[in-house]
Amino acid sequence: GCGICVNKCPFDAIMIIGLPEELDKPIHRYGTNGFALYGLPSVETGRVTGILGPNGIGKSTCVQILSGNMIPNFGGEEGSWDEVLEYYSGTSMYEYFSKVAEGTIKVSQKPQNVDMIPKAFKGKTRELLENTDECGRLDDLVNKLGLSHIMDRNIGDLSGGELQRVAIAACAAKDADFYFFDEISPYLDIYQRIKVSQLIQEISQDKAVLVVEHDLAILDMLSDVVHVAYGMPSGYGVITHPKGVRIAINQYLKGYLPEENVRVRPDSINFEVHPPRAEKEVGTLVEYEGFSKNYDKFSLKAAGGSLKNGEVLGVVGPNGIGKSTFVKVLAGEEEPDGGEMDFDISISYKPQYVVVDQNLPVKYFLRGISSKVDTSYYEAEIAKPLQLERLYDRMLTDLSGGELQRVAIAACLTRDADMYILDEPSAHLDVEQRSQATRTIKRFAENNKKTAMVVDHDIYMIDMLSERLIVFEGEPAVYGEAHSPTGMQKGMNKFLSNLDITFRRDEDTSRPRVNKKDSHLDRLQKSKGEYYYYT
Ligand code: ADP
Ligand code: ADP
Ligand code: MG
Repeated sequence: GCGICVNKCPFDAIMIIGLPEELDKPIHRYGTNGFALYGLPSVETGRVTGILGPNGIGKSTCVQILSGNMIPNFGGEEGSWDEVLEYYSGTSMYEYFSKVAEGTIKVSQKPQNVDMIPKAFKGKTRELLENTDECGRLDDLVNKLGLSHIMDRNIGDLSGGELQRVAIAACAAKDADFYFFDEISPYLDIYQRIKVSQLIQEISQDKAVLVVEHDLAILDMLSDVVHVAYGMPSGYGVITHPKGVRIAINQYLKGYLPEENVRVRPDSINFEVHPPRAEKEVGTLVEYEGFSKNYDKFSLKAAGGSLKNGEVLGVVGPNGIGKSTFVKVLAGEEEPDGGEMDFDISISYKPQYVVVDQNLPVKYFLRGISSKVDTSYYEAEIAKPLQLERLYDRMLTDLSGGELQRVAIAACLTRDADMYILDEPSAHLDVEQRSQATRTIKRFAENNKKTAMVVDHDIYMIDMLSERLIVFEGEPAVYGEAHSPTGMQKGMNKFLSNLDITFRRDEDTSRPRVNKKDSHLDRLQKSKGEYYYYT
């Protein structure tokens, strides 16, 4: 454990804490020794309530209760709505639960795992969406979410990003009192994430909305209040009182909740505003030539550049712009037009879509890559932060998306190579796992003086990891242009000006925050061409 656990922590310093004393009575407990939930998120018409915390902490349980599907038992045998009303009398949730008890609350939900939708629905996008259109606003949703060109496609043929937007449209199209979005960002690029956030804010004008989201920049811009969720995954979960959005995220990053007097992490997650490193300090790993790659309907043009030893490069751009194609060419998985890439360094590559082609226990699989798996260095630097130890005996084919992602990140870093390329490592990870993965990759590059390249849409991950950026521009699914590596500020300026959004730095934690469109700062920064942050 991490040494500060009150309860024995089986999760190796990821989840901590002793329960605050006032939390002796749960809202709900599954069976005698089952998972216990303490506290519930507040839902209120006219606002977006965000939940910030890891998976397995009781969020779906909360929604089961708030939607009236399950009567909470307060840790006892069986609950009743009378007991719930008594418990919440005099609070802001009383009125809400009165309606739940009467059966007059209608709920619309966007499930977490959109990959399951094609298994449950066979048919075209249009059919799925027309079935859910209870408000007569389908055209508006299709337009806002950019779905018009996929209306006549089979649901089973959609990409992850398309499926996600269809699922969000289906949830939004229903006529409900309470909307629950269990993650909006998976498979979406930043532009799409922002579009969806704006849509959800519109819904919340006269409805209650609850959102679980692991991309902190998006949670930050989307929510009106945030509950932090903490505890021990599968053991118990605590939902705090609602906090101001900025305060909740800052407290979470610092790892300490002062009102609750609870530590959720032994240390803080830090954003450094790192100055560019002096050129002479680091040697050049490799210079690469520009190349092009043409597919049937898509062409990529990449400018050449040089990569430095020990640096982490972020790769950013919209979906369908050629990022994965670019890294596949560097990794030697694809040939550029005109033949082989002249690139004599070894590369360890984690693809965007991880597929299991052998069925082995995790530990056996990693040992097969390198014997360093059994060293204490490996345990401390890779296995522990990626929570591998409790996966070691599991079979690769039995892992969930988030578990497989962590194993794939570990496998990539376990190989000996000159350069490490990770395509979308944040996918399927919850907020805590993202911060641990970020730290693992960064420390690995620093300690081993290795070059790493990370493609991701999570701005916090990119900001924390990267010293330089490779920015992609163009027209998604038609052509893409990869620029040479450039400094963070310059690169982010280019990237964000294409998106027409500006970021400022939080004065307390230095984390990037999206400026409200047309706010004073937004306009000032745009007028100065300072999209990333303004100093
Ligand atoms: P989250 O949505 O935050 O991932 P859930 O609310 O789905 O978490 O689950 C929290 C914990 O409660 C899980 O560890 C799970 O084992 C347990 N749990 C969920 N549903 C049931 C159930 N019907 N019976 C017993 N345990 C359950
Ligand atoms: P990104 O990683 O930026 O989302 P990709 O590099 O995966 O983008 O894809 C860029 C474009 O190239 C997409 O329109 C995609 O459909 C197309 N594409 C990717 N791989 C192939 C391929 N093997 N054959 C034909 N088209 C492809
Ligand atoms: Mg990609």
